[in-house]
Amino acid sequence: MSLRNIELVLSPPEPHFVGDGFRVHNFIPGGYRADMQRMNPFILLDYGAKFYFPPSDHPMGVGVHPHRGFETVTIAYKGRVAHHDSTGQSGVIGEGDVQWMTAASGILHKEYHEKEFSREGGELHMVQLWVNLPAKYKMSVPKYQSLANDQISKFTLEAEAGIVEVIAGEYKGMKGSANTFSPIHLLNVKLNKDSGTDFTFPAAFNTALLVVEGELTVNKTEVVPSDHFALFQNDGEDFEIHTENGATVLVMSGENIHEPIAAHGPFVMNTRQEIMEAFDDFQKGKFGVLKD
Ligand code: MN
Repeated sequence: MSLRNIELVLSPPEPHFVGDGFRVHNFIPGGYRADMQRMNPFILLDYGAKFYFPPSDHPMGVGVHPHRGFETVTIAYKGRVAHHDSTGQSGVIGEGDVQWMTAASGILHKEYHEKEFSREGGELHMVQLWVNLPAKYKMSVPKYQSLANDQISKFTLEAEAGIVEVIAGEYKGMKGSANTFSPIHLLNVKLNKDSGTDFTFPAAFNTALLVVEGELTVNKTEVVPSDHFALFQNDGEDFEIHTENGATVLVMSGENIHEPIAAHGPFVMNTRQEIMEAFDDFQKGKFGVLKD
């Protein structure tokens, strides 16, 4: 047993809107330092804390935009998000579902509140995480992994403590549902009242958690309230969490991709030259076509 300690606990930064439909708190990279390396391979975390959107005939969201060089992982806790992209695919991310999109060489897409959700209005509660790709995969073919909640591996904790949805990687021997390009563990942990569990990841893996619901105590000492983010040190392998009143927690841990990062807007590559090429390819229409 070697204890992994918390480096800092962050309260949600001032929210901003992505398009007109996603009100998010940016925890990575903006929350603690403007550096995509600290939590690499997790290079961006936008957290849409619960927010009520009134009924609207015009679905709110973000219009056509490109991505290249990484993956976007969208998790819907409440509400429904629809997407369309330049390969002709579309779908809906419903409550409890995860969409793992490998943008890789490039994709154009748009992300909106799903039509019916939009018409009825309601609370949206979601996460968008950007996962970096190793250089050798940055220009691979784009793809999707649409993980409906009933397709996600679920580990049942002892003593009715709750469940761990293993989105990617592994938890206590159970393999995750998503395939990844580098070693990543992404777990959605749902704890019942007065219960807890523990985690073991290699000390070198960059590790953090986001409390989506409820309040946690980490390693018996540090309190992490709802909508707060805890960044761990790389000083040990093991940590534990406990909740009095129940909690939902997104736990992420991944091996650092030890490569330079050059990022500009929706492009995350290794060099400035590759960013220039991305803009050039985008302007030449090489990311395909998608109508607004
Ligand atoms: Mn996008």
